[in-house]
Amino acid sequence: MSRRGNELEHRALQLIFDAEGEGILQSEMWKKLGVSSREGSRLALKFEEKGIIERQKVLHNGRWTYRLQSIRQPVTLDSIRGCPCLRCDDIDKCFPGGSRSPINCRQLTEWIMANAGDADTGPST
Ligand code: SF4
Repeated sequence: MSRRGNELEHRALQLIFDAEGEGILQSEMWKKLGVSSREGSRLALKFEEKGIIERQKVLHNGRWTYRLQSIRQPVTLDSIRGCPCLRCDDIDKCFPGGSRSPINCRQLTEWIMANAGDADTGPST
């Protein structure tokens, strides 16, 4: 994919993520991006196929369009709150194959297990 294409996808996703719960109309997205309705539709379909968004058909000002809503959210600082790596003295020695490794770290595994399923709200501390 071209650099312009990547940048366009990034901007489109940011618009959808920023719209949070209520989502954004597909027609509104392509107008804000300054692209054609065909290009906007192509992007929305691609995101839907990748499972990043869901499209819901809605009637808006007498015309059918789609409301685009994010299924996934971008990683936030909240999502790593309480992670043991943030205050670990061994972080400089920790890498796959190192003297410490995230692959078999008990503290990290326990933190992940304790926070599994909190993806929407971020882990607890
Ligand atoms: S994976 Fe474990 S050892 Fe490595 S930085 Fe995180 S807490 Fe420290």
